Amino acid sequence: MEVAAIVMIDSEISAKITKEWGISKDAVQEYESFFAEKIKPIIKTNYLSHLVTTVENMVNESRVRDCLKSLTDLEPRSGHEWFKARLGTRTFRLYSIVLEPVKLKRRATTRHHQSGAIIYYNSDFDEKTIRILIAHEIGHIVNKELLKRADTESAANLFAYIAMYDKNCFYKGECGKFVSSDVEIFNDITSICRA
Ligand SMILES: [Zn+2]
Repeated sequence: MEVAAIVMIDSEISAKITKEWGISKDAVQEYESFFAEKIKPIIKTNYLSHLVTTVENMVNESRVRDCLKSLTDLEPRSGHEWFKARLGTRTFRLYSIVLEPVKLKRRATTRHHQSGAIIYYNSDFDEKTIRILIAHEIGHIVNKELLKRADTESAANLFAYIAMYDKNCFYKGECGKFVSSDVEIFNDITSICRA
């Protein structure tokens, strides 16, 4: 496994942050170590999070639609309007996808539930293998919940191939346009998010 690079703020930028944003040196260090020690290790385990979140949201929306339809078809009862109002807010969820590292004999497996899916994966594998395993398991969720077609191993592999190939193209091509120097990032934040 590659070691996560620790975000280190350059001393010149750190001085600019203190001077222009009025933040103490101690606070800069506190945020720096909070990000490196608490957030970054978890980001690393949120494999393929854009893909996972997108599929999760799509299934969630279909669950919400089905639930609203059932509520409309049912006899009105006290509590229905209350529940419908909550379903209408986009933060109330009926479906989540959870990635769960475990010691498994198999490489990965997915348990499907009404309220979500849990993808269990063997965390002994390297990062590249885990990403492929998760793309394959997301393929099973897509088959079952979104395409509603036969959930075969080959179909899950086909989905994994397309998702990984697309990700690859992103890293090769589009990624370049997000690369900026530390000074550019500092200036962008200063001008876009004026305090
Ligand atoms: Zn499979």
